[in-house]
Amino acid sequence: MKYIGAHVSASGGVESAPVHAHEIGANAFALFTKNQRQWVSKPLTESSIRLFKENCEKYELDARYILPHDSYLINLGHPEEEGLAKSRAAFLDEMQRCEQLGLKLLNFHPGSHLNKIPLEECLNRVAESINLVLARTTGVTAVIENTAGQGSNVGNEFEQLRYIIDRVDDQSRVGVCLDTCHTFTAGYNLVEEYDQVFQKFEETVGFRYLRAIHLNDSKKALASRVDRHDSIGKGLIDISFFQRLMKDSRFDDMPIILETPDESLWAEEIRTLRSFA
Ligand SMILES: [Zn+2]
Ligand SMILES: [Zn+2]
Repeated sequence: MKYIGAHVSASGGVESAPVHAHEIGANAFALFTKNQRQWVSKPLTESSIRLFKENCEKYELDARYILPHDSYLINLGHPEEEGLAKSRAAFLDEMQRCEQLGLKLLNFHPGSHLNKIPLEECLNRVAESINLVLARTTGVTAVIENTAGQGSNVGNEFEQLRYIIDRVDDQSRVGVCLDTCHTFTAGYNLVEEYDQVFQKFEETVGFRYLRAIHLNDSKKALASRVDRHDSIGKGLIDISFFQRLMKDSRFDDMPIILETPDESLWAEEIRTLRSFA
């Protein structure tokens, strides 16, 4: 079965996110558990945590299909000690928020070398960051998102995701989220070479590590390495790709999350995707 939702607002408190998910007919969702543009946020209150869980239960939104996203400020492969320490502390806080909310996954972008350290050194730091945080938490899987490879962002090649996973001590708590826009603009031709791309993913990373999908169309061309999402069917990824993915059982039973730019279309996008499945 397909679990489809969107990255919904949690303004006014995390407890509002499951309500917003329900309003668009979602059976999965993503959220920020804190303000994504600040380093430090107030701890979650007991009542927020309780209401979040109550709302998830009320609307039948299971923790397996909820994909929190970390702050955009965090860079787990930061080239400098201060930035790295700050990122690791913030990521640990995000993991602990997930523990408090009873969530199982935390999605993050691997990091950026900022043109100050070699790619492999950056990937080593990302892996070490994951190890440090997993050692201090339980029950939450670190879900690495592939990137478009824009600027100095790492994680645009499947091999880089594999490189990080290989260096994680507890491989039962590391996974991957594939963003379809990022995959396409990183240079994987999802439309013309659907089978080959996912065969390559299977051989390099393995579907056993796939924990989630970010389902986005792209405003930018194949291999452009630019990250600009578009609404499903409005961008440069042919609709046939989305039709095919919805029928592909390898993407069953995991959160499939829209991060498409026009929120007013989410309910309709979800309905259309369900009709493909
Ligand atoms: Zn994404
Ligand atoms: Zn993106």
